[in-house]
Amino acid sequence: MAVGIGFDIHRLVPGRRLMLGGIVVDERFGALAHSDGDVLLHALVDALLGASGGGDIGTLFPDTDPRWKDAAGDVFVAKVVDSLRGRWMIVNADLVVFLEQPKVEAFREAIRRRVAELLRTEFVKINLKAKTMEGLGPIGAREAVAAQAIVELAPIGK
Ligand code: MG
Repeated sequence: MAVGIGFDIHRLVPGRRLMLGGIVVDERFGALAHSDGDVLLHALVDALLGASGGGDIGTLFPDTDPRWKDAAGDVFVAKVVDSLRGRWMIVNADLVVFLEQPKVEAFREAIRRRVAELLRTEFVKINLKAKTMEGLGPIGAREAVAAQAIVELAPIGK
């Protein structure tokens, strides 16, 4: 088994859509980013890369590359999942979102389902937790959104 961890944070600004796990969760405030700023998928990508020894999201998809301008997090996940094919099976993904508002609870099942689609299996155990920061710090002040991910991979044919 191999385990990987990922973290991401973006500043929240008006006039962008907030994407989490490939789902629109707010139309008024969104993550300031070169890509679509989906912290949950970015953390997931880094966790997958960490477990498989594949590097990190910033190296593979640099924010200076015009190809990734406004790129959906889905694209990064799809590319990394492709790179695992035939080598690693995704066993489990445990995800945490840190967001003051809106409450992630209303989107939990939609996000979980979308992440399962992106990982291209119904059989992966995907768990999604959401925390507020109890009003503390930049996330508590609704100036930022963050996410953590941890995944477990099993090698295929080794
Ligand atoms: Mg990011």
